[in-house]
Amino acid sequence: MITVKNEEQIGCMRRAGHLLWEVLQKLKEAAQPGVTTKELDQLAESLIRQRNAIPSFLGYEGFPASLCTSPDDMVVHGIPSDGTILREGMILSLDCGLILDGWQADSALTVGIGNISDEARKLIAVTERCFFEGARHAVAGNTLGDIGQAIQSCAEANGYGVVRDLTGHGIGREMHEDPAVYNFGRTGKGQRLCAGMTIAIEPMISSGTWRVEEDDDGWGIRTLDGSLCSHYEHTLAVYPDRLPELMTLPGFNWADYDSEEETV
Ligand code: MG
Ligand code: MG
Repeated sequence: MITVKNEEQIGCMRRAGHLLWEVLQKLKEAAQPGVTTKELDQLAESLIRQRNAIPSFLGYEGFPASLCTSPDDMVVHGIPSDGTILREGMILSLDCGLILDGWQADSALTVGIGNISDEARKLIAVTERCFFEGARHAVAGNTLGDIGQAIQSCAEANGYGVVRDLTGHGIGREMHEDPAVYNFGRTGKGQRLCAGMTIAIEPMISSGTWRVEEDDDGWGIRTLDGSLCSHYEHTLAVYPDRLPELMTLPGFNWADYDSEEETV
């Protein structure tokens, strides 16, 4: 069931989203060579609790941390550990969520550790572009297929694969609500968007195959061919008459976004 939020409820989600943006900015700064992913998780939890919010990932279906840390060929759901020490040249996806006053926010980004290759830099840039190309179709009256098609064509135009096994989602009181928001699809197909829907769009883009496999720990998901993967996610609100509000990216203005801009 899709839940539509009123203005007041969207206001609550906006406050949660802005806090999550602050947390992710601090995590991004902290992701440096020599730091362990466990240390990033501890920082995430303390930053969230300092803001009187609750880490939504901790204990979710048994997940043991407040942050997902997914290096290099890992797509999502990496468990932070003392044994994973960040090294120059790695890329690391940071996926985090929090609950403020009963309302959820969910956002992810991929960061380069120190200096990274041009190939890795391009993958991160194209993944972010895929998000924005998809998100600008999140207007009432459009369909989920419009979003998916835009993401897929942006990725494939750059020779990249769109991971199919994982999707974005509705979000609100629950982290994962209906509908599933696919990162591929066909224009005009699928669920029609309406005003007051709040969704997380989260392309997971691989420099090689889109096929993935699960790690032995039952959580981490990796690309089947070991190719690099990047992830970018925001929680957004759908309106009838304007482009969506990116609730986990305060200060963003669509007027500053150039769809034709080169990615690198
Ligand atoms: Mg997420
Ligand atoms: Mg999500």
